[in-house]
Formats: sequence, structure tokens, C-alpha cells
Amino acid sequence: MNEVKSNKDYNPEMHSAEHILNQTMVRMFNKGRSFSNHIEKKKSKCDYHFDRNLIKEEIEQINKKVNEVIQKDLLVTEEFLHRNEALESFKLSQLPEDAGDTIRIIKIGDYDACPCSGMHVKSSKEIGKFQIISTGFENGVLRVRFKLLKE
Ligand SMILES: [Zn+2]
Repeated sequence: MNEVKSNKDYNPEMHSAEHILNQTMVRMFNKGRSFSNHIEKKKSKCDYHFDRNLIKEEIEQINKKVNEVIQKDLLVTEEFLHRNEALESFKLSQLPEDAGDTIRIIKIGDYDACPCSGMHVKSSKEIGKFQIISTGFENGVLRVRFKLLKE
């Protein structure tokens, strides 16, 4: 749910990885997508409302699942919905106020769908290899730091 950044550091690979990470977190823990994030080429971080830190096995499971999705080489496609239609399936609270009545939904194969105006890869394999660097937990916020390795 990020705005397009004109910043030259904007990295479609990292940003697309964030979509897959978020869907994986939703499926594993059912605590929602990241409410805040910082996406950069070298390393990124996503923050989640959570109740504890992750254990090593969970981190390994997330790495494995995200990389499985990447390796499936899923197509990244866009779809446009009217705001009212979009509201039936998505939380739009993080979209910019000037997003207008047409909402762009980004789909990563049949794995994830999320309103977003950012830039993405064309298919998931372009992302490379996903790896969590570390996680931390403080005041109800789980922070996941990750990087991508080019294979
Ligand atoms: Zn996006």
C-alpha cells in the first residue's frame, strides 16, 4: 500500500517481496499486514502489530514459504476496482487520501492481492532469494528486517 516514490532507490524487487512477506505473515499468524515499513535496495524492514518476537523455527518457515512463492515465478498483475468494490475485500485505510475512486489492486499469482500504487516486478522469480536478517519486538510491534540475494 505504498505510494510511488520518485526516489531512485525505489526497488521493485524489494517492494514486491514485501507483498509476499505480508501475505505469508497473514497466513501464518493472522495478525494483519505490516502497518509501517521502510523498503530500500540493500535491506528493508516491516513492522507488524504483534504480541511477541518470532522464534528461529518461525523465521525459517517464513524464509522457506516466501522463497517457495518466489520460485513459482508467479505473474504480478494489476486490476482496477471502484473504491466501493475494493472496500468489500480490502482495507483501504493506508491508501493516500487522493487515491480517487479507482483503486489499483496488485496480484501476485493467486497468492496475494493488495491495493497498491507502487512499482513491482513482472514475475516473482525476478525478486531473487529472500532472507530475514533479524527480528525484534518492542511495545507490541514486531519488526522484521530482510534482504534479497541475487542468484
Ligand atoms: Zn506494491
